[in-house]
Amino acid sequence: MTAAAAALREEGVDVIALSQGEPDFDTPAAVCDAGIAAIRGGRTRYTPVAGIKRLREVISEKLQRDNGLSYDIDQITVGCGAKQVVFNALFASLDPGDEVIIPTPCWVSYPDMVRLAGGDPVLVGCDERHGFKLKPEDLEAAISPRTKWLMLNSPNNPTGAVYSKTELSALAAVLRRHDQVHVLADDIYEKLVYGMDFTTMADAAPDLIDRTLTINGVSKSSAMTGWRLGYGAGPKELIKAMNTIQGQTSSHTSSISQYAAMEAIGGNQNYIAGFVSDFRKRRDFVVEKINEARGLQCRMPDGAFYVFVNCAGILGKITAQGRVIETDMDFALYLLEQFGVAVVPGSGFMASPYIRISYASSMDDLQQACGRILAACDALC
Ligand code: PLP
Repeated sequence: MTAAAAALREEGVDVIALSQGEPDFDTPAAVCDAGIAAIRGGRTRYTPVAGIKRLREVISEKLQRDNGLSYDIDQITVGCGAKQVVFNALFASLDPGDEVIIPTPCWVSYPDMVRLAGGDPVLVGCDERHGFKLKPEDLEAAISPRTKWLMLNSPNNPTGAVYSKTELSALAAVLRRHDQVHVLADDIYEKLVYGMDFTTMADAAPDLIDRTLTINGVSKSSAMTGWRLGYGAGPKELIKAMNTIQGQTSSHTSSISQYAAMEAIGGNQNYIAGFVSDFRKRRDFVVEKINEARGLQCRMPDGAFYVFVNCAGILGKITAQGRVIETDMDFALYLLEQFGVAVVPGSGFMASPYIRISYASSMDDLQQACGRILAACDALC
């Protein structure tokens, strides 16, 4: 949808993109300076596959400080974004036919990554009435002897759902009954929570730490999506296997990004409070406006920078051009083509009928876009 919006813009159409999965803030100046200093200092050569030792120390200190987790540096690997770390983990661990439980709505990449690695994604729907969160009984029902991983993403893309420590403990109680199941905790939106405490699975269930891989990165928390740096911390054997895969693919992420990430993770992070405060205001605005639109309804998300909007009330309605809106994709295309607003249909996140609105845009854009969405809903009959 972002590409479609860009193409329309090139044709001169006035399009507001609310489809992006990245903060609209600039990378903090101190982080940029660290990258520039690395370039000027000639620190531009190959690094160890797992990442520069000092960076892994900084990550280990972060995991202790923020999450209460103890990891040696040989239990930490750095990749080209959290994305590559997830990919390496699946590639390193899945045998053909192994199953990976993915609660849905989920990040668009998980099911395809599992398939690419030869595994079978097992999608488990999480009800909106349950806050889009996985219920312990649904987890229990989805586990089979072939289950290798449970992928847990909190705060969640696309719903913004954040699991509390109690909710994670309830899931952990199920996992304790099934030794074969490992947990991949994708914490990439950790810092973007609004009034809720963030907890990661290895903290909620320290006894499961030997089968938990904690994944995080700098893309969302430090507005560094283009720098491509993420990391994983987990059992030594798994990390070693992931490094073996990375050693024959990308080798490592850019040395410059690694030096910048040392500053982003280990330096002053006061800017994050500013990001959170801005995002919170935008979230409150978008949620209020969307709930005023005819046929739309959404929950107040606790984290990330997305609002996941239920558009069941739109289906079956007819546009001024005489087209029936039958799916969330139809609705997203209608918003884009007739009203110049790009959003992502829920089908991309294995959940329909929904649309995902990213509020990582200026307040000005959000005001205009919400006005257009309200008008688009009013124009349907
Ligand atoms: N995990 C989730 C849930 C995401 O939404 C994203 C990016 O949108 C990523 C991982 C990838 O992050 P990175 O930019 O660090 O690869």
